[in-house]
Amino acid sequence: MTWVELSTRLAHILIVDDEKTLRMMLSHAMQKEGYQVIEAISGEQCLDLCQQQLPDMILLDAILPGIDGFTCCASLRTMFGERCPPVLMITSLNDQESVDWAFNAGAVDYVTKPVHWAVLRQRVRRILQATWAMTELRQTMEHERVLMEQLEIANRELRRLASIDSLTQLANRRCFDEFLHQEWQRLRREQGFLSLILLDIDFFKSYNDTYGHQSGDECLKRVARLIEETIKRPADLAVRYGGEEFAVILPNTPLEGAMHIAREIHAKVELAAIAHAGSRISHHLTLSGGVATIIPSHQSTLEDLIASADEALYRAKLQGRNQIAGQFRIYCSQEKLQASPEPCEPDRCD
Ligand code: GH3
Ligand code: MG
Ligand code: MG
Repeated sequence: MTWVELSTRLAHILIVDDEKTLRMMLSHAMQKEGYQVIEAISGEQCLDLCQQQLPDMILLDAILPGIDGFTCCASLRTMFGERCPPVLMITSLNDQESVDWAFNAGAVDYVTKPVHWAVLRQRVRRILQATWAMTELRQTMEHERVLMEQLEIANRELRRLASIDSLTQLANRRCFDEFLHQEWQRLRREQGFLSLILLDIDFFKSYNDTYGHQSGDECLKRVARLIEETIKRPADLAVRYGGEEFAVILPNTPLEGAMHIAREIHAKVELAAIAHAGSRISHHLTLSGGVATIIPSHQSTLEDLIASADEALYRAKLQGRNQIAGQFRIYCSQEKLQASPEPCEPDRCD
């Protein structure tokens, strides 16, 4: 036996009729089918009973003292909306107007008096089955909707985890690659500036050697927060690029702007005064940074931008660390690479 069949068997039917004999006959016929029966003698009583507990179906006489069956049916629809049980009108009126009236009031079907019992039994059964099937379908759809929602949340979390560095909670290298590629394409179309900052902690190996790897991890987290605090535009992206290296991608930002951000991060780390007894250039933790800016074109690649920022970082290291160096690069078709203007000295790039 299916769930629909089982539910149909256990259905509660409310019979509303002021005529005692017909009410008893209806009751008897429904009980013979195995349904639970509740009786009401007026529209008012029908509404009262429904407010206490909704039946699975209502057999409603059209002509009743007080509020008539049509009005009662319309009230049930208004009161219970989607939850309103199906109403089968029982009427001695067989004219077109009454039939329209019954359907307009929200009845799902009607039978006429004198009642043809075989027809009534079939209609009640069919209506109950359709109602339960609809309920089952609604529940399945709701269940599927909840599952889809949970799947979407899980997918979002998975995507987030796949693009986040677990130690620092900054974006990871994979996210860096995707974002840089996307911004490269966009700014090539728009011919806008694309800047990249590469930051590398100075003498970090000896930080670990001095304070232990766990303190090293805490230090990386702290530096990550300082970088994050500095990046204010939603279009910018701060990334953990590798071990003790960080990157910041700044779309639509010329070299001067990117240098300003890089210096701000540098100053923040200095201000944080994180003790670094193993450093050969300071008592505190310091950063070196390389900044590069490009207007993407068909003659250049994003690897050129990364190489350019890397070159600047190398220069900053070579010139004594604890500083920021930068360069702006343009590419043209005749010569693959042209540095212009001359690579800036760290103190000339503001
Ligand atoms: P330099 O000033 O030339 O950059 O020297 P450095 O010691 O910072 O550079 P090097 O590349 O020699 O060493 C980087 C160190 O960063 C090596 C490794 O111990 C440390 N490191 C990389 N990833 C992590 C990490 O996830 N946690 C910790 N604690 N240390 C890391
Ligand atoms: Mg390094
Ligand atoms: Mg380093």
